[in-house]
Formats: sequence, structure tokens, C-alpha cells
Amino acid sequence: MTKVKALSLFSGGLDSILATRVVMAQGVEVTAVKFVSPFFNYDILDDIEGYKEQVRDKYGINAMVVDISEEYLEMLRQPAYGFGKNFNPCVDCKIFMVSRAKQMMAELGASFLITGEVLGQRPMSQRRDTLNVISRDSESRSILLRPLCAKLMAPTLAEEEGWVDREKLLNFSGRGRSSQIALAKDYGITDFPSPAGGCTLADPILSRRIKNFYNDGFVVKSSDMTVTDILLLLVGRQFLLPGGGWLMLGRDEKDNTRLSSLAEEGDAVLGMEQQPGPIALLRRADTFYAGPEDLQKDLELAASLVVRYGKKIKGKPPEADVTYRLAGKKETITIGPIADEISRAWML
Ligand code: SF4
Repeated sequence: MTKVKALSLFSGGLDSILATRVVMAQGVEVTAVKFVSPFFNYDILDDIEGYKEQVRDKYGINAMVVDISEEYLEMLRQPAYGFGKNFNPCVDCKIFMVSRAKQMMAELGASFLITGEVLGQRPMSQRRDTLNVISRDSESRSILLRPLCAKLMAPTLAEEEGWVDREKLLNFSGRGRSSQIALAKDYGITDFPSPAGGCTLADPILSRRIKNFYNDGFVVKSSDMTVTDILLLLVGRQFLLPGGGWLMLGRDEKDNTRLSSLAEEGDAVLGMEQQPGPIALLRRADTFYAGPEDLQKDLELAASLVVRYGKKIKGKPPEADVTYRLAGKKETITIGPIADEISRAWML
């Protein structure tokens, strides 16, 4: 007899691990889909096979990774249910992910969907009425099983068809974690991520940056925004220069490497070849400015910031040569550090 298949929305947190395992324990073949976007888990794309192996080894779960960046950026422009405490559109995010998973079902031969939601665990997105909204708006009411709190919800197709035994599903509710931790122990799972973190949209500082970015009138029109813009927004120190240019500066070696790797054609990349200091990236330098003079002014300010955050000698960064590369050319600006009293106002 062929096994019934299901698709589980896998955040990688304990609840989604357990929800997947609870259904697997009933003989259902479950694929766990891990969605990634610039706001969460994007680094997985660097090593998808490594991630899948890790999930298999640690939790015995078969995972797949799907990049939803482009569609997610679009959704974030106008989430119907608004935002949480920060720039986190949790209800729309869940509706979006369940809908996206639903689209994948036919291809994977899956008969139903699974999430690790627990009734009453989060104030906004896991209240009973919100769970109902998520099922309704994703048009998944009958096919969305929440194994961890299924006994507190109306039966779904999976129970009605006998693909899973409702009696073996759970009745978890509320914010406590002890039931989940006890269940994890039963499955021999001890190494799992802590509940907080992972999504920059829920981070008080980074989400503010992202929110600004989504306001039209900022350096990039929200309709022109790309995945790379969001990734750049999350790196290093950020400045909006007087000429309107958007500049980011590495704070350490890791940021510098990241900026260099994210630079695209049309971006100016600045740095000092003779002494240690930050890499800076002036986004869309080639096309953003009305004329070469405007560009030159912002490049000089950018260079003075590179010097400011470079190595100090006798407590002060010395004048230095800053090179920049733009549109296949390499130029040098000799300049001293800018005063903090001036540049502070440009910080994002
Ligand atoms: S915290 Fe982030 S990933 Fe999680 S539901 Fe909210 S917006 Fe989506």
C-alpha cells in the first residue's frame, strides 16, 4: 500500500520538529519544507545539502529548502493584517507560507499540510480566531493539520479520512514549553534551537531599518527594491549621505567580505589598500546621481567615513588614500576622517 504523504511547514524550531515527528510516527511520509527569505534563514542557501543533512541527522526529518524571497518582498509591501510589535507581519506571513506550501502539494503528491502552531502560544498569530483566519485565507481549512493542538481544534481531512489517528494527536495550548520539551525527550531530541530569534522582521533594531526602507522616498523606491538591497540593509553601519546616496560600511572582516560579495555592477566599492579599515559600498552609484559632481561629493564623504572608521594612529585616523571601483574604473581619493558630529546625522 502506498504511504499517505504530507507536507510540513518547517521553521526549524521545536514545535515544527515535533509536529512533523508526531505525524511521521503515524506512518505518514512527511516532507518538511523550509522557506527562506532575506529576513530569515537566507544563509541556508549557501549550503542546502548541508542543511538537509543536519535536519536528517538531528531530527530524522526529510527536509527541502525553498527560496521565497521575491514573493515575500512583495507581500511585505502591504500585509492585510498589519504588523506586530516590530515590522513583523506574522499573520500574513503564515497565510503566505501555508498558501505557498499548498501550491506544492500536487507536485509532491501530498494529501495534507502540517504546521507546528500551538493554540494560544503567541498573542497575535496563534489565537484561535487567528488560526482560523490563517486556514481560511490560505484556503486550507480542511487540509491543514496542527498536530500539537489538533485535539482542541475541529477535525481536518487527515483525521476524517483516517490518514492519522486523532487520538494520537495532541492538545497543547498556551505559552508553556514543558509539554513540548517532554515530548522532545520521548523522541530523543535534545538539541533544538531556542524559541526566540531568527527573523529580522521581529528584531527591534533591524526591523526599524527595514521599515524605513519600505517607505517610499528612501534611497530606493519600494517598487525597485531587490533581494540584494535587503541583504545589504542588514550588513554593517548604514548611512544616508547628504547627496541622497545609500552607503554601508563593514564593521569587521566578516562584514567587509559580505559587502564585497554582495556588490553589484553600478555599486561603488571603497576601501584603503595601504592600511586596515572598512570596506564601503555606495549602492547604485552609477545610476542614482543626477550628475558626476553630485556623485563625486558623496564619494568623497564616503571616503572620509572609510578613513574615520579605519585604523587610528595616536588616537586619530590619519589622512589616507581611499580607492574606489566603479563601472570598471579605479580611482583614488586622498582625504582625512570626517567628524562624528557631522556624520552622526547621516546614520540610518
Ligand atoms: S516572526 Fe517572522 S517568520 Fe515568524 S511568522 Fe512572524 S514574520 Fe513570519
